[in-house]
Amino acid sequence: MAKIALCLTGADLDENRRYLNRYQDHIDLAELRVDCLHRSKLSGLSKGTLSEFIGDSPVPLILTIRRSVDGGHWDGCESERLILMEKLIPLGFAYADLEDDLGPEAAGAEKAARDGKVRIIRSLHDFRGIPEDLVERMKKNGRDGALPKAAVTLTHSREIIPFLEAARELEGQEKILLAMGERGFFSRIMAERLGSFLTFTSPAEGQKGAAGQIDPVTLEGLYRFRKVTASDPLYGIIGNPVIQSRSPELHNRWLDQRKLPGVYIPFLLDGVDHFDRLDQLLDIRGLSVTIPFKEAILPFIDKISPGVRSIGACNTYYKREGRVLGENSDALGFLYPLLDRWGIPRDTEKPLRGVKCSLIGAGGASRGVLFALVSSGARVLVLNRTLGKARTLAGEFGAEAAPLSSESRELIKEYSRLIVQTTSLGMAPMEERDPLEFYDFNGKEFLYDIIYKPVETVLMKRAARAGCGVLGGWEMLREQGKVQFELFTGMPVPTEKP
Ligand code: NAP
Repeated sequence: MAKIALCLTGADLDENRRYLNRYQDHIDLAELRVDCLHRSKLSGLSKGTLSEFIGDSPVPLILTIRRSVDGGHWDGCESERLILMEKLIPLGFAYADLEDDLGPEAAGAEKAARDGKVRIIRSLHDFRGIPEDLVERMKKNGRDGALPKAAVTLTHSREIIPFLEAARELEGQEKILLAMGERGFFSRIMAERLGSFLTFTSPAEGQKGAAGQIDPVTLEGLYRFRKVTASDPLYGIIGNPVIQSRSPELHNRWLDQRKLPGVYIPFLLDGVDHFDRLDQLLDIRGLSVTIPFKEAILPFIDKISPGVRSIGACNTYYKREGRVLGENSDALGFLYPLLDRWGIPRDTEKPLRGVKCSLIGAGGASRGVLFALVSSGARVLVLNRTLGKARTLAGEFGAEAAPLSSESRELIKEYSRLIVQTTSLGMAPMEERDPLEFYDFNGKEFLYDIIYKPVETVLMKRAARAGCGVLGGWEMLREQGKVQFELFTGMPVPTEKP
C-alpha cells in the first residue's frame, strides 16, 4: 500500500514537531524540508538539535533541501547546499533526496548516504510539462538501489494521458510518481493505483510543500486513501473549476457508510477531446459531469435518458454491462427536496399540477429545473436579465418569459406560489446581491434558491423574514448526488444524514 508522507515546511523545528504530533496517526513518513527552515536556524542544525528531532520523530524522515528551480526555497549557493546535505545525512535520516541532474559535485552527499545506509531518492522536477524521456530517466534513476521520483506538471489535462501511460510502463518498478498543481490533484489520491511508493501531503494549517498537496487527514478520511486498492472502482467528477466541489465529500462518505470499495476523485479538465483514452486508462465506473462539460460529454455516451434528451445536458456518466449511459440527476435532485418539504409523495404523477411558478434565471442549471417543473405539471414564468435567453428557454418548454426587472413585478405576483432562484446572484463572490430586490414578498410565496454556498442567501433571508417557506440548494446538491450514487453503485444512499 502506498505510504503517506508529510512535508514538514515549518520555519523552525518546533513548528515541524507540532505538525508531526498533530498528524502522526495518519502518516508513515515525513519529509524535512530544510529549505523551508528559517536561514538563522540552519547553522545550529548539525549540533544536536536536529539529531534530537530525528530521534523523537514518530516516523522515518526524508531529508530534502529543495532548490528554488525545483520549487523549493533554498536561496544559498549550490556547493553550500550539497555540503549541508553531506553533513545532515548521517544524523539519522532514512532517505535523502538528491536531484537526478547532479554530477560529481554530489559525490560527498552520495557517499554519506551509502555509508549511513540512507536510501537516496533520485528526483526530477519538471514545471514545464512531462519530460519526453520520463520513463527512461526513471529507470536510470533507480540505479544502485535508489528510489526514483518524478514530479511533473500537466500544462493541459490531455497530458494526463502520457502521465498515466508512463505509470503503466513503469509498473512493477519502485518509484514515486506525481503530477503537481490542480490538474495533477488526482495523482495525490491515486498513488496506489499509479504504483507510487508514497504520496506527499502538507499540514492543513501550514505552508504547502508543493501545489496540489492535500493534508493527511483529508487524504485518509475524505479520500479513503488506506482503504482503496489499485483495482477498486474509480468514481469522480469532471469539470472546470472542480477542485472545490463538495461532491467528493458526499460520495466518499456514502461509499464509506455503505462499506463499498472505491473512491470518488475530482478531475480538473481543460476539454474532453481526450476523454475516450482517459476513460480507457482509468477505467472509470461513474462520473459526475459539471460545468462546462455537460453538453460536450454527450458524444461519449451510448444511451442517454429522456431527461438528458429534453434538457440537452448530461451530468451523470455511468456504465451498465459494457455500455455507457447518461442521465441528468439535476432535475430529480431539484424536485425531490421540494416534494419532501411540501409533503407530496415522490411517486405522485404531476406532483406540481397547477402550481404557478416564477423561475429566476435562464442559465445552464435553469434548464434542468425548468424540465422538472414543467414535467411535474407546474406553469412557469421564466425571468432573466437577458430576455432573449429567457424567451428561448421558455419557448422550448412551453413556459412564459419576462425580463428580470421591476416591470415584471405584477406578473411575478401572479406566478408566486413558488419562486425558484437559479442565477448566480447571491453566490460567492456576489453574496450580497439579491436578484429580486425590486420584489416585496407577502409571505405566501415559497422560495427555493438553488445556490448552496452560502447555505442561506440574502434572498432566502429576506423571504424568511417576510414569513415565506424557504429551501436552499444544499438539499438539491445532495439529492442529485444521491441519484448519481445509486446509478454508479446500484445501491441506495444510506438513510442517515451525511
Ligand atoms: P450560468 O449558466 O452561468 O447562468 C447564470 C445565470 O445567472 C444566468 O441566468 C445569468 O443571466 C444570471 N446572472 C449572472 N449574473 C447576473 C447579474 N449580475 N444580474 C442578473 N443575472 C445574472 O450558471 P448556472 O450553471 O446556471 O448556475 C447558476 C447557479 O445555480 C449557481 O449559483 C450555481 O451554484 C447554482 N447551482 C446549484 C446546483 C445545486 O445542486 N444546488 C446545481 C447547479 C447550479 P444572463 O443570462 O443574463 O447572463
